[in-house]
Amino acid sequence: MNLLLMGLPGAGKGTQAEQIIEKYDIPHISTGDMFRAAIKEGTQLGKKAKEYMDAGELVPDEVTIGIVRERLSKEDCTKGFLLDGFPRTTAQAEVLDQILSETGKSIDHVLNINVAPEELMARLTGRRICRDCGSTYHLIFNPTKAEGECDKCSGELYQRADDNEETVGTRLKVNIDQQQPLLDYYREKGNLRDFEGSKPIDKVFQDIEVILNQATYSSKG
Ligand code: AMP
Repeated sequence: MNLLLMGLPGAGKGTQAEQIIEKYDIPHISTGDMFRAAIKEGTQLGKKAKEYMDAGELVPDEVTIGIVRERLSKEDCTKGFLLDGFPRTTAQAEVLDQILSETGKSIDHVLNINVAPEELMARLTGRRICRDCGSTYHLIFNPTKAEGECDKCSGELYQRADDNEETVGTRLKVNIDQQQPLLDYYREKGNLRDFEGSKPIDKVFQDIEVILNQATYSSKG
């Protein structure tokens, strides 16, 4: 099953991705994660990507498309994949279609998790993260038992530098503007599936399962 995951920051893509890849046993391909790994390893690719990422800009297509093409050619992608963070532009979407068609493949479903921007603002600005183990909490929706202290390891909680109201506002706007042409592109093609992301995590996943299970049956004939 070849899947794309879409949604604004804070919509719950990461959480849904974890459940999807486990249940359907497909690799999670996140271009953001691949770039961050390359930066950590200090590779040539990492050096190139870093300057763009630090500026909040898109890494140029010739770099990004290259790493996606290579990753998709790996053995584990023969059974399918969940692409996350790619494509970011319609130009990338067109190239992706082309790369897949070279091996007789196509995208089965584009999973789009919808949450109203006002709700995302509340989700992101209230988010708190443990300095020690990285667990994520929310001041209102998922508070810790003791204020400012991680439930799992008692580590200190902090707020990500880009989770303040002003930066979140900008990030949401930029992402909405970037995403719209892609949503139009896939809606036109007929493989965009919309999900109500304000529902509880498990309910969103159940909705996704309904669509993916149908797909499994129909593709098996
Ligand atoms: P993400 O973790 O998906 O938010 O990505 C973090 C950063 O990596 C982005 O702000 C971009 O600089 C870069 N990046 C990730 N995916 C792409 C892409 N498909 N095209 C260009 N740049 C990307």
